[in-house]
Amino acid sequence: MDYILYLFIFAIGITFGSFYTLAIYRIPKTQDILHTHSYCPKCEHKLGFFDLIPLFSYIFLGGKCRYCKDKIRPRYFVIELLSGLFFMLLAFLMNFTVSTLSLSKLVEFGLMVLYFSYIVIMAGIDKEYRQIQDSVIYYGIVIGILYMIYLYVIDPTSIYRYGIYVILYAVTLIASNITLKKYASNKYAFGIIFTLITMAIFTQKYVTILTIVAVLLAIFIYLLIKKIQNLKNPTKENYFPKMQIGYMLGITNISFLLYILAHNQFMV
Ligand SMILES: [Zn+2]
Repeated sequence: MDYILYLFIFAIGITFGSFYTLAIYRIPKTQDILHTHSYCPKCEHKLGFFDLIPLFSYIFLGGKCRYCKDKIRPRYFVIELLSGLFFMLLAFLMNFTVSTLSLSKLVEFGLMVLYFSYIVIMAGIDKEYRQIQDSVIYYGIVIGILYMIYLYVIDPTSIYRYGIYVILYAVTLIASNITLKKYASNKYAFGIIFTLITMAIFTQKYVTILTIVAVLLAIFIYLLIKKIQNLKNPTKENYFPKMQIGYMLGITNISFLLYILAHNQFMV
């Protein structure tokens, strides 16, 4: 029976994946993500039911739009597949079985899904545009607070541990409001700070610190390689490229999260 449960969870995962691709495409263009009908970005033809089945539409249409035959970016397929796999893996690591399914497990799973949604949408937009949108940041704050309320309900003593994050959110909100009026170019940095706070709430401070260290190390190695290349072949261009730090943090954090869950050290 359990494989039916996992197939069902996979199906939900790829459906969420399909929504993420839509959000990543529409949010930077400030389009409605809930109501407007899906359409092909190239020919703008409205998509029908059979064009919108996650994963399978891409396979059966051969990665092309049914109407204008334009290539659909593999990104859609990759995000849907990875989301399906993440949902299944998370359920597996949380020990989901038909006989032991409980409401508290489902709530915990749902909250982790909200966090995963934040990371995928934030990272996806960052990779494409090197931006972290306000609406995405606010979503992160809302789910961060929601998660803290949940932790408070299951363990009222945790309030002292999580008070610090509420203060951090508030301080960052005030600081961003003050400085962004003067220096709008700092917007990206504030997006990263908000992301780190939300990350620390959901994946604990040690995983977050590990994530930051790993990303800094990757940036350091990357810059070192660039420096060596530049010494050999001096060009002013691309020496200090604009890096998608949110994207790097997101991928690293989800990897560490799964690793730690797999080693049963995930303690709230
Ligand atoms: Zn088309």
